[in-house]
Amino acid sequence: PSTYTQTFDTAAYKGTVTIPLGLYINGEFVDPVDGGTIEVVNPATGKVVTAIAAGTAADIDIAANAAKKAYKTSWGLKVPGAERGKLMFKLAELMEEHIDQFAALDAISNGKAFLTAHGRDNKGAIAVMQYYAGWADKINGKTIETNEKKLAYTRHEPIGVVGQIIPWNVPMFSLSLKIAPALATGNTIVLKPSELTPLSALLFSTLITRAGFPPGVINIVNGYGSTAGAAISSHPLIEKVAFTGSTLTGRKIMEAAAKSNLKPVTLELGGKSPNVIFEDADLEQAVKWAIHGIYFNHGQNCSAGSRIFVQEGIYDTFLKQFTEQALAIKVGDPFEPSTFQGPQVSKTQFERIMGYIASGKEQGATVHIGGNRIGDAGFFIQPTIFTECQPNMKIVREEIFGPVACVMKFSTEEEVIEQANDTSYGLAASVFTRDIDRAIRVAHALEAGTAWINCANQTEISMPFGGFKQSGIGRELSEYALENYTNVKAVHVNIGLRL
Ligand code: NAD
Repeated sequence: PSTYTQTFDTAAYKGTVTIPLGLYINGEFVDPVDGGTIEVVNPATGKVVTAIAAGTAADIDIAANAAKKAYKTSWGLKVPGAERGKLMFKLAELMEEHIDQFAALDAISNGKAFLTAHGRDNKGAIAVMQYYAGWADKINGKTIETNEKKLAYTRHEPIGVVGQIIPWNVPMFSLSLKIAPALATGNTIVLKPSELTPLSALLFSTLITRAGFPPGVINIVNGYGSTAGAAISSHPLIEKVAFTGSTLTGRKIMEAAAKSNLKPVTLELGGKSPNVIFEDADLEQAVKWAIHGIYFNHGQNCSAGSRIFVQEGIYDTFLKQFTEQALAIKVGDPFEPSTFQGPQVSKTQFERIMGYIASGKEQGATVHIGGNRIGDAGFFIQPTIFTECQPNMKIVREEIFGPVACVMKFSTEEEVIEQANDTSYGLAASVFTRDIDRAIRVAHALEAGTAWINCANQTEISMPFGGFKQSGIGRELSEYALENYTNVKAVHVNIGLRL
């Protein structure tokens, strides 16, 4: 398999990155069985930067067998947790050494600002690896009191080979969120990155062997969803599948899992998160958080606060300030240090978002600002605000995954809770108010896996993240994520029962 080298000489980063392009299976970079490739496009220019190896079902099969062998011989219960943790700390150290290159590769393939990829995604990915490395020797069962003639306890055993499928919006953070808890609990892994952002995962693959992991413990197989991804969710040796991406794909994965070996499924899906701003809120702060809530990561954020409900008394002032700040967002080259918003990730996503903007206009909403493409190269879209939105409009009901906010007016607490919850999603929700009773009352009433009071888009590694309703199944981050990767065994020891 060949390599890809790029030299960066930009304001944000100067340096050279070289990565292999093959599939990382059983500790080696190999060519795919059927020789397929995927072209990687830089969304800032629309131009192809390289082509990477594309795995298919045959490669997933080889990877799953390698992972099974590794599980039985050199990982799982064969390796004490402290040893697993040590390798994970080493891996985190190597990730830290290469953080500039990781950020550059994510900026190239995803279009996000280099400084965001560096300071958020990749710093976060390293911290997640370290957090779960610390858990590796603390995976404990319980001793359970039954009666004096029995010793009863539980063990939290690894599941075996786990399959993981991730999206493109936070490439390395998603990868670490999946891999780290699975490794800490003793599983071996077959992971497929998004076909849109495969480059940083290839750099990551080069560090796995260097960190000292036995071959087959972590396998990274690039490929398309309908081939490699589908093969992961239906493979009989893969005993669990964890997925982040769209609700539509989540359904397919659950179906494939059910039809194959009934593997357990965890899903991190989309959202249409409400952001509720009451008249007594600190308006200046509410505006800033609302901007961050929807426009961070170009709106390509599963927990984006895309439905902004503002109480009538402050609606006009809020809209004025929110508009001023949206207009001030610096959209441009990801390698320009002042850039906040780069291009959307791909032509498909760009067209999808422009389609939603067109549907908003057709259904009678008002484009308050934005709504257009920026320039004619790459996939840049103006930060957009819709007003006069109605609950039945597509832009209010469906996840746009772009820099598009719907701002709506409300009068009472009761009414806004009903509107905020009128969605099939339930990933996150924000409430802004200085009234502590109301803040907690509303946070509890909102149907979402995460509720933010007087902030938005916050994650903590030690706090769980996941969805109610059709936003997902299971939780990532924190101690809760460990549950996704263990089988609980109940052991009954007879110390006196006689028949
Ligand atoms: P997607 O669901 O199509 O892709 C996510 C991952 O799933 C990719 O690795 C893809 O290759 C894989 N995949 C696709 N089809 C598959 C299949 N049949 N079986 C197994 N794996 C499959 O999402 P996308 O096209 O990358 O983005 C589309 C939408 O997904 C976005 O607009 C947004 O609504 C949502 N999304 C959500 C998140 C999130 O963090 N919750 C992240 C990215 C995208």
